[in-house]
Amino acid sequence: MFDWFKANTAMAIIVFGGLFVIGIVTVVAIVLRGGWKDRGFMVRDGHPLHLPASLPWTITVEPNVPTIYVDALNTVVLQLREKVGNIFDHVVQLQSGEVALDIKVLVAIDKDIDHPGETIHQFNKETGVIMSAFVSMWPDLSYADALKVATHEIGHVVGLDHDEHVSSIMHHMIQNRPQTFTDKDYERLRKAYT
Ligand SMILES: [Zn+2]
Repeated sequence: MFDWFKANTAMAIIVFGGLFVIGIVTVVAIVLRGGWKDRGFMVRDGHPLHLPASLPWTITVEPNVPTIYVDALNTVVLQLREKVGNIFDHVVQLQSGEVALDIKVLVAIDKDIDHPGETIHQFNKETGVIMSAFVSMWPDLSYADALKVATHEIGHVVGLDHDEHVSSIMHHMIQNRPQTFTDKDYERLRKAYT
């Protein structure tokens, strides 16, 4: 092997230099696109979860949900309407008897859940279409944290999965989350929903 290197120094530099450059380019590309564990939409039974395109949807909050949580949820929905539009224009209060995607928000009774918020979906196993979502949030959050949790959970409501990039709103830990969705999140939602 060593003799081969001595006899073929130029060839060795080209081969190993080439592999080194390919490695660097790959790492830079992964970092630029926000990590290899950014999974986008949740996939269940082989289908990405997504809201139905045509139905209006409502968000119902339980009576004990604090006003600052409601303000935070409204802020998130307004941002989605402004930045993504389309299906988010349908967030309306319905008359009784109309069909809608029903999203319920409540405050957790205690902090005995893994995360400061949690979203549970019901969805069509054949298509991945979300039929309802049930969001719970920790009690006693500040407005800043309620906004982070509300944004993260609404992200789940519309189908987004966790993102291992620590500065993403969809990272599972709250500490480093930004206050709102990033342009990358809006772009992903626009692609899926417009
Ligand atoms: Zn989450």
